[in-house]
Amino acid sequence: MTDCIFCKIIAGTIPSTKLYEDDDVLAFMDIGPLVHGHALVIPKAHYNLLMDTPDDVLAKVIAVVRRIARAQQAGLGADGVNIHQANGSTAGQVVGHLHVHVVPRFADDGHHWNWTPRPYADASEAAALAERIRAALLP
Ligand code: AMP
Ligand code: ZN
Repeated sequence: MTDCIFCKIIAGTIPSTKLYEDDDVLAFMDIGPLVHGHALVIPKAHYNLLMDTPDDVLAKVIAVVRRIARAQQAGLGADGVNIHQANGSTAGQVVGHLHVHVVPRFADDGHHWNWTPRPYADASEAAALAERIRAALLP
């Protein structure tokens, strides 16, 4: 994709700080880190959403995600690692090339997830939603 910033990074026409590369996957430093050491892992083939991406490509991406997370622990002394991946602008996706955020976490890093639970009115509300999801599941 000629207008995709991450495809340009893969092609080398936009600079990046690379962490790992093979025939199918690239890992590089995020230019706007949530926590210092924040990395992105992308497939070299252009897919927009997780939902569009073939299983074999996802398997290669997630294996590199785990390697980067382990390296953040071993190399940076991260106490934990958050994995984040957005699909669609409503979900906060800005770059339309599948990417997994790998964010090293430290006890004093100052980052807090603004995760506000919104409880169901009652169990039947959750059950009705679960039924709709189950009915739409594809193999
Ligand atoms: P998202 O909001 O999930 O689409 O995240 C896009 C991420 O790409 C953000 O965290 C940006 O900081 C990052 N990003 C955008 N452009 C670049 C770039 N040229 N090099 C490295 N990271 C980038
Ligand atoms: Zn792309």
